[in-house]
Amino acid sequence: MKKNNARLELSKEEMKSYGYQVVDAIVEHHQQQADKMPVALGSRNEMESLFLEEAPEKGSDPAQVLNFVLEKVMTNSTNMAHPKSFSFVPGPSNYISVMADTLATGYNIFSGGWAASPAAAELEIVTIQWLLKIFGFPKKKGGGIFTSGGSMANLTAVATARRIKCGDDFSKAIIYLSDQAHSSNIKAIRVLGFKKEQIRIIPTDNEFKFAINKLKNCIAKDRLEGLHPFCLIATAGTTNTGTVDPLMELANICKKEDIWFHIDGAYGGAAILSKKGKQTMKGIEKADSLTVDPHKWFFQPYEMGCLLVRNHKNLSNTFTEKPEYLRDIEGNTSEINFYDHGIQLTRRFRALKFYMSLKTFGLKEFRDAVTYNIDLAEEVETLLRGSKSWEVVFPATLAVINFRYNPITKKYSEKELDKINQYISEKVVESRKALLVTTILNGQIVLRMCLINPRTTMKDVTDTFDMCKNYALEIEGKLTSKV
Ligand SMILES: *Cc1c(COP(=O)(O)O)cnc(C)c1O
Repeated sequence: MKKNNARLELSKEEMKSYGYQVVDAIVEHHQQQADKMPVALGSRNEMESLFLEEAPEKGSDPAQVLNFVLEKVMTNSTNMAHPKSFSFVPGPSNYISVMADTLATGYNIFSGGWAASPAAAELEIVTIQWLLKIFGFPKKKGGGIFTSGGSMANLTAVATARRIKCGDDFSKAIIYLSDQAHSSNIKAIRVLGFKKEQIRIIPTDNEFKFAINKLKNCIAKDRLEGLHPFCLIATAGTTNTGTVDPLMELANICKKEDIWFHIDGAYGGAAILSKKGKQTMKGIEKADSLTVDPHKWFFQPYEMGCLLVRNHKNLSNTFTEKPEYLRDIEGNTSEINFYDHGIQLTRRFRALKFYMSLKTFGLKEFRDAVTYNIDLAEEVETLLRGSKSWEVVFPATLAVINFRYNPITKKYSEKELDKINQYISEKVVESRKALLVTTILNGQIVLRMCLINPRTTMKDVTDTFDMCKNYALEIEGKLTSKV
């Protein structure tokens, strides 16, 4: 590489060889990831010993920097696309979208306004229309925007709900969500400056669904006190159990009470692509706004969230500001400036990966992938039910299953069961061979699998169970020796 390089350039040959090295690394990663460990563990100290340095005044050889990154950075990052990454909500991703993201970044397309890149804006319009249709939203009036993720989509939704339902004065505004709602919603509410007293966390029933009667009582009480119920956040696929709230009933309540109906379907929404999921999602089309996270179960790489709205004008009425320097490029109203539909002005070209992967694989392959995931979780449930060692704590729902080690031959106390299952998870993660962490359901520590990776096989699951079983026997030995 040139010595004085204030243009920050490489020669054509250097660019090519560098690019090929990067592609080779990515392809190798995709090809061989199943044989590698999904889990990375590293303390702050270990990471600092690898990376901490002053910003170098002098550059280095490109290949050397790249190799260092491949060896030290990539290997010290957990792989959420690994077939044995069962925890949180994995990010299975797909290679076409990876390359599409590379293109979007390579051309550094500004995806803020129409004038800058009409094609990028149109692809966002088109792909949002695909999603509107999938979710049964009105095609003409409906709209939406791609965001960095579900958290930003939820924030955009609550800001919109408040603008439309409250205008400038939200001092009496009350927002409702269930105790199973994702934490990003509370974060959004706090970021927007609501006080604690304006948030109602409604308990859930024994299936982790919004307790309707309690909700109705709460709304009625708030009205009697002169407060203003303005927004309700339901969940289509809770992160813990995959539960879908009673969307139809909630839609009716919201309609009757003139409350903005937001549905957080960040991970679960994509289930609508399958026949079973479509049944479960009945009522999702009634939402005023809906969060879906294509970087989860629509198999897109990070970062890609999406907010769909029933009426696109609600977004522009919330987010349009007209500074002088944007005056000249306003153009035709049908030519959407996405900076007027959300928070970001400069935005990366997120629509491209969604567009290219759907065009390449076709929607049917996406449907089949999601269906495979839902079926796999149900098969896992059947397997667990037929075993003497495992208890299904919550049935397979939208590819999530909660279970625990609880052998029928032994009578352990709840405390002991918590200890055993916590131990299993810790040991599995420590082994780095699978990512399997616990959650808490009804006060019990349980193991949770989220099976939204279409490349996860039954064998990946049973291998993991075998590993769990060995750790269970290990701690059982310790428990009994103590007695
Ligand atoms: C993942 C998730 C979110 C947050 O989305 P990010 O993309 O991580 O910001 C919100 N709600 C639900 C239900 C989720 O599963």
